[in-house]
Amino acid sequence: MGSCPSWACKGREGGRGVEQNENRPKVFIIDDETVSIDVLSGLLRPLYRVVSAKSGENALARLDTQAPPDLILLDVVMPGLNGYQVCEQLKKNPRTRDIPVIFITSSNSEEDETRGFEVGAVDYITKPYRPGIVLARVKTHIELKRRGDLLERLAVLDGLTSIPNRRRFDQFLEYEWSRSQRHAHPFSLLLMDIDYFKMYNDLYGHAQGDACLRRVAEAIALSMPRAMDLAARYGGEEFACVLPETHENGAQAVAQRILGSVRALKIPHAHSKAGAYVTLSIGVACMIPNPEKQPLDLITRADQALYKAKRGGRDQMSTLGRFPESGET
Ligand code: GH3
Ligand code: MG
Ligand code: MG
Repeated sequence: MGSCPSWACKGREGGRGVEQNENRPKVFIIDDETVSIDVLSGLLRPLYRVVSAKSGENALARLDTQAPPDLILLDVVMPGLNGYQVCEQLKKNPRTRDIPVIFITSSNSEEDETRGFEVGAVDYITKPYRPGIVLARVKTHIELKRRGDLLERLAVLDGLTSIPNRRRFDQFLEYEWSRSQRHAHPFSLLLMDIDYFKMYNDLYGHAQGDACLRRVAEAIALSMPRAMDLAARYGGEEFACVLPETHENGAQAVAQRILGSVRALKIPHAHSKAGAYVTLSIGVACMIPNPEKQPLDLITRADQALYKAKRGGRDQMSTLGRFPESGET
């Protein structure tokens, strides 16, 4: 998924000491002339949170660290980096490349305008502009951006359980694996599977089976409060947790917590041979990623551990024993 939703950012902004509504979209104006910034701000402020920078360099530095705005209004002619150069930089940076940029400038030749689109702008407004038209274009591009963000978020969520889906799991695993490899951090994975779930469906029906999956997914997600961990639906009645920077001991503790949370749901399962309620089996695997290993090796190992937990009687977690490079002390 791309950048976090920009309206989630907190704090005072705009440099005028006015507490502005957090939920309103944020527009970032980049222009070297104070008068231009003031006129545009006056126009936008009734509807948007407005922040500004008087140089491309300053704007790029702030955009690299702060919560991203929903839209950027960018001047072309500025001392230092010009607008085209700023836009090119924005489009190169994964943190900022999805923010729509509108040029707003008195450079009104066809060549200038074409260049603006070539460097990645979504629109180009020439001065003198009509305020109503600026507002309409800003509104359109912010709406398009928000719709795109929403679709992006939905594309990585599982439709049934609303937790991250397999696609998100694959992306996250790949990304965190390389990060852990760079820092030589231990990396853990849990693979989980509901016990005797076919019998549950057969006995209670598919709709109740779906409801059970939702409740189990929620219990798993709530058992993982660390922001850097990810719980996902791996497929069918299987779930997975990616635990970056986690030793095997830590991963086992998380697995025990999840087992306890699912037991505590007390979802009746009259045909389970593991107990009176719905339970999980969990395979735990930990590795320190290195260039000879792939994320798939970790998945295979967790899958083998899961099989062991099933054979051991279900409603339990299992590991394949300590891996030399798992970083245990
Ligand atoms: P085990 O204890 O060995 O894991 O046995 P099991 O019955 O849980 O495993 P099996 O793989 O035989 O059956 C999995 C069942 O999960 C069969 C399938 O119908 C059900 N299932 C998979 N996805 C869904 C779903 O989205 N909704 C419902 N209701 N059931 C699902
Ligand atoms: Mg299964
Ligand atoms: Mg199962």
